[in-house]
Order: sequence, then C-alpha cells, then structure tokens
Amino acid sequence: MTKLQMLNSLKQQCEKCNVCEIGKCRTNLVFGEGNPDSAKVVLIGEAPGEQEDKEGIPFVGKAGQFLNEYLKKANIDRKKDLYIINTIKCRPFVIKNSKTGVKSNRPPKREEKLACEEFMLKQIEIVNPKLIILCGNNALKALCGSKYTITNVHGKLANLEYQGRKAVAIYHPSYLISYAHSEHKNQEFLDDLKYIKSMMD
Ligand code: URA
Repeated sequence: MTKLQMLNSLKQQCEKCNVCEIGKCRTNLVFGEGNPDSAKVVLIGEAPGEQEDKEGIPFVGKAGQFLNEYLKKANIDRKKDLYIINTIKCRPFVIKNSKTGVKSNRPPKREEKLACEEFMLKQIEIVNPKLIILCGNNALKALCGSKYTITNVHGKLANLEYQGRKAVAIYHPSYLISYAHSEHKNQEFLDDLKYIKSMMD
C-alpha cells in the first residue's frame, strides 16, 4: 500500500469514530492536509476551528492565514513540504448563544485528546517525516510531555525529539494573533521557521 492509501484507510476509520460529543456534531472531520510523498515535515496544530470545520482542512482560518504568511517568508512550501494535522480531528466548541446557536472555540478536553491520539500517532508513522513541528503547547505536550512549555523550548532553544525523530516547537499562530501582538514574538516565530527550513534542506 502507498502512504496515500494507508492514510485514506485511516481516514475512513477516523470518519466512523464518534467517541466524543464533538465527533457527533462536526460539519467535517479535519483529518490532515499535504502530500505524504513529498512532505519532509509533519506540522501538528491544536484543533480545528470554525473555518476548518466548514472546509475539512487544517489551518484555513485566521491562524492559517498567519501561518501561511510566515511559511512564505521562511521559504517553506506548505503544499509540498508539510503534512499538516492537529492533536484532535473535530472542532471543540461551546455554545456561546443558546438562542442563535452561535459557537465559539474552546481548548480540547483531555478525553478528546486521548480518543484522537492513536490517529495522530498513526499519521506520523505513515508519513514518516524527517522532522516534526509542534505548533503550540497542546501539540508540544502531546508528544514530548507536560514538563515543557513553548516559551522555554521553542525553536533551537531545545533539542526535542519524538521516537528518534527531531522535533521543533513553535508558537501557535492564534497566540501570536490574539495575545502577543508583539513584533519581537513574531520575529522569533519567523526565526524558528527559518531554522526549521535549514533543517529540512
Ligand atoms: N486551525 C487548525 O487547524 N489548527 C489549529 O491549531 C488552529 C487553527
């Protein structure tokens, strides 16, 4: 079986999963995006948001646009170089307004992460990347354990690894958009992506 066939078969299993409430009411499963044959890197985000749930593709909302802008600056080709996944495949949400049914995003719950973990790990095994990008604290903790925080280990500050593969942690774009508004942090984000690019070549 090719990598694509193996991923498609895993996606079919994932589509049948409705262990969590959010699996029962998703619009789309957000399984992953990228070319597993050309991707040298698996990028792991946190969870799908509203736009991702609508389109079934990771990082297509505001955070995705921010990520795209910085990938371009670092000369990383999203479509060719990356296979992008999240720690969970369905959008975690709370109902913000019970009259209108308007939802807002929330962080994934422990049981949701546990239910989805085997799909994420299997995707890494199938794509077999040279390098893993851990985008945000959720992805970092999911693969490397809870003792790490992005602030302490992002970019080349740490030599992370997951099962013998090199891993690099980066800030989550949503953090940079919503909280930081800091040129300094944005520059660190770009430097980390450029460092990743140098490891890919
Ligand atoms: N979109 C995703 O697919 N993942 C995130 O972590 C954030 C936005």
